Amino acid sequence: MRVHGDKVIRRREDAPKLNRYQDGREQLEQDFHYLCGYCGKDGSVLHQRFHLDHFVPKSLDKNRENDYYNLVLACQRCNLSKSDKWPTGDIVLPYNEEEGFVDPASEEFDEHLVRNEDGYVVGKTSVGESMCNMLHLDIRRTDIYWKAAQLKQQLGELEKLFLEEKLTEKQKDIYIKTNMMFNKYIDQAFTKGE
Ligand SMILES: [Zn+2]
Repeated sequence: MRVHGDKVIRRREDAPKLNRYQDGREQLEQDFHYLCGYCGKDGSVLHQRFHLDHFVPKSLDKNRENDYYNLVLACQRCNLSKSDKWPTGDIVLPYNEEEGFVDPASEEFDEHLVRNEDGYVVGKTSVGESMCNMLHLDIRRTDIYWKAAQLKQQLGELEKLFLEEKLTEKQKDIYIKTNMMFNKYIDQAFTKGE
C-alpha cells in the first residue's frame, strides 16, 4: 500500500509567487489533500492544522523560503523531527545512494517508502530507511492514525446511505451515535504532538 493511500500528492503547476510562505497554506493543503507528506497522517480526520515544512531547510537555502515548490505540508511531529536535517549537505541533491529526503510530492516518493499491511510506514530502500530514521517513523505508531482515517472513510459511506434515506430509523440512530463517539475519541486520543 502507498503511504498516502489512494491520494496522489502533486503541487499545482500554476502556483502563485508568495511574499510570505504562509500565504501558500490554502493551496498546499489542497494539493496535499490535508495529508502530512511524510507520514500520511490526515489532518482533516484528526482535526489538526499542520505545519508548512521547508523541504530544503531555510537554514540551508534562504532563497527558497517563499518558494511554493519547496513547501511540504507536514504534521508537527514530522516537521519538528526533520528540523534542518539535510544529510547530503548539497541543496540541489535531496538524496544520494544511501540517505536523504525524497519530496513527498514527487513520483519517486513511492519508490522509497511504503505502508505495510499493518499500516506502518516503512522504508523500501536505504534512502527510505534513512527517512524513517530521521523522522522517527520507525518508533512511531504510524498505523493508528492511518486506521482512524480508514474508519472515518467507512463512516463516510454510512453517511451517504443516511443522506440517501437508505437507513432505517434504528440504523440512523446507531450511525449518529457512532459518528459522535468517533469524533470524541479522535479529540481525546490524538494530541497535537501526535
Ligand atoms: Zn507526519
